[in-house]
Amino acid sequence: MQDSLRYKGMREELIKKLRNSGIKDEKVLNAFNKVPRHFFLDTTFAEQAYSDMAFQIGAGQTISHPYTVAFQTELLQLERGDKVLEIGTGSGFQTSILAELGVKVFSIERHKELHLKAKNILQLLKYKTQLKFGDGFKGMPSYAPFDKVIITCGAPFVPGELINQLKIGGIMIIPVGEGVKQQMQKITKLSDSETKIEKLGVFSFVPMLEDKVK
Ligand code: SAH
Repeated sequence: MQDSLRYKGMREELIKKLRNSGIKDEKVLNAFNKVPRHFFLDTTFAEQAYSDMAFQIGAGQTISHPYTVAFQTELLQLERGDKVLEIGTGSGFQTSILAELGVKVFSIERHKELHLKAKNILQLLKYKTQLKFGDGFKGMPSYAPFDKVIITCGAPFVPGELINQLKIGGIMIIPVGEGVKQQMQKITKLSDSETKIEKLGVFSFVPMLEDKVK
């Protein structure tokens, strides 16, 4: 797999579209300029890699739309050096965008095949991240607390264990809902017993499945 000026040109077109759709954070847009999304897709999709589309990545899962990745990333209000927990590594594209923003990424995937594939691509692109094969509902307690948590699969409910692993003052971005549609929520942890919830529109993710590591 190779990058080229042609792909870079396609990335610039995608960034224009993301900006027109309301993404404002220049640091997030700049990360989209750096990460070659076509590396994360089957070569048959390479020509469409910079259109705002989701694609199959194997094991019945999909890489999120670029707009969804940009929207969730912007909501995290990242600061360099933040510790970020991601649930649903999938292709590793969102993981790379986070790494490109200078944060420490910890990411969990329940499909071994996808976990291993993402690990290879991230190594190839020289992003230093901690990838774990396991159940995202359990989080990564040995690395907690996290400044931010991002969930990239549709959660049937807000997992209490992941709120426990979030710092006070920390932010979780999570699509919540049991059907094919979920509501994007921004949850700010105010204290050990209080959270503030903001509802930010309807999205469609593959489901977050509990205790079914494959
Ligand atoms: N961030 C990914 C999105 C992939 S789709 C990307 O940019 O490509 C969501 C992923 O969540 C799928 O790969 C799915 O296998 C994974 N997933 C679902 N439930 C999970 C769980 N309980 N723990 C970890 N990963 C989970």
